[in-house]
Amino acid sequence: MNRAHTDLLLTRMPPSLRCSRCGQLSFDRYDRTSQRIRDLNVFDLHTYLVLDKWRVHCPTCGVRVEDLGFAAPYSRYTRRFEDLVARLCEHLPVANVAELLGMDWKTVKEIDKRALQRAFADPDYTGLRLLSIDEISYKKRHRYLTLVLDLERTRVVWVGKGRGKATLEAFFDQIGEEVAHGILSIAIDMWHPYIAAIQAHAPQAAIVFDKFHVIRNYAQVVDRVRLDELKKAEKEEKPVLRGTKYLLLKNHQNLSPKQRNRLEELLSLNQNLNVVYVLKDDLKRLWNGTEREEAALLLADWIQAAQASGIGPLADFAKTLNHHAYGLLNHCDYPINNAQLEGLNNKIKVIKRRCYGFHDLDYFRMKIMQAAPRARSP
Ligand SMILES: [Zn+2]
Repeated sequence: MNRAHTDLLLTRMPPSLRCSRCGQLSFDRYDRTSQRIRDLNVFDLHTYLVLDKWRVHCPTCGVRVEDLGFAAPYSRYTRRFEDLVARLCEHLPVANVAELLGMDWKTVKEIDKRALQRAFADPDYTGLRLLSIDEISYKKRHRYLTLVLDLERTRVVWVGKGRGKATLEAFFDQIGEEVAHGILSIAIDMWHPYIAAIQAHAPQAAIVFDKFHVIRNYAQVVDRVRLDELKKAEKEEKPVLRGTKYLLLKNHQNLSPKQRNRLEELLSLNQNLNVVYVLKDDLKRLWNGTEREEAALLLADWIQAAQASGIGPLADFAKTLNHHAYGLLNHCDYPINNAQLEGLNNKIKVIKRRCYGFHDLDYFRMKIMQAAPRARSP
């Protein structure tokens, strides 16, 4: 690229040079090459430091390239320039950063990846206690990643391929038995592979089934019942039932007066829809309290009402809740959920588009960790 640039010629006369492997000072110079190292722009000019870079004869390591301090041993960019590249890559696609700085996109990506590795490749797992674990789909045709969020220190500590039992077992292998046995509680969806892995590797951890997943599953039940009722309805009733998905699922206070009237008409016409609608609000009360016994009574009543209704999809859902009651009631002791990981979904879509074409899962993983909610260290 033939852009306006400036070369700054550096001369140095240090009596000793530092070995880039062990950091030891050495007075024994071996040979030198002329180097051009890109630094931050001076005004608008691409700026290069031109200097002789030595190889030293280190007493411990033998012949090694010297450590300049301001640039990594084999990099043709200063550390502060690399920091700029990495900072820009946090907000812009790699191609845009490359264009902005007049660089090759591969180099930009490699610099960003090295910075990410320094920050995220080796997370501190000690003292993990409250976790939120969820899957995201990262490719078409059901390719998933499993994300583990540390709820106390607000950071994604682990991203693994897949969403099976083996995936989560790889996480437990990584953190080791001692850390796994210190975990108090984990929020997950009612997903059996995760449940099995947790029961095998962190049996003491209280599993909490995520409120939002349960409510979302219930919304599907509501819609299933609505479609069944629409099918069964008499011809003159159909218009009342049609296009009511939104009315049934939206919070009542978010409906306009006109929508409320329509909903009332619908519920007075159709008994089954009235039942699933009333139970929708009752279900949400499950997460209001902190008294386990109270919640247990509420859940038992709910399950009984749902099963007594004779509505197939509703009775099936009640059965599922009954199987998973322990993880619903654990919320009283550990009021945790997957909301933070849910909130990450849109950001991940953006990263996915930016990383598309790199075919570099490691890079994608670390970009997710970077974009995830993070407690900034003081
Ligand atoms: Zn050395």
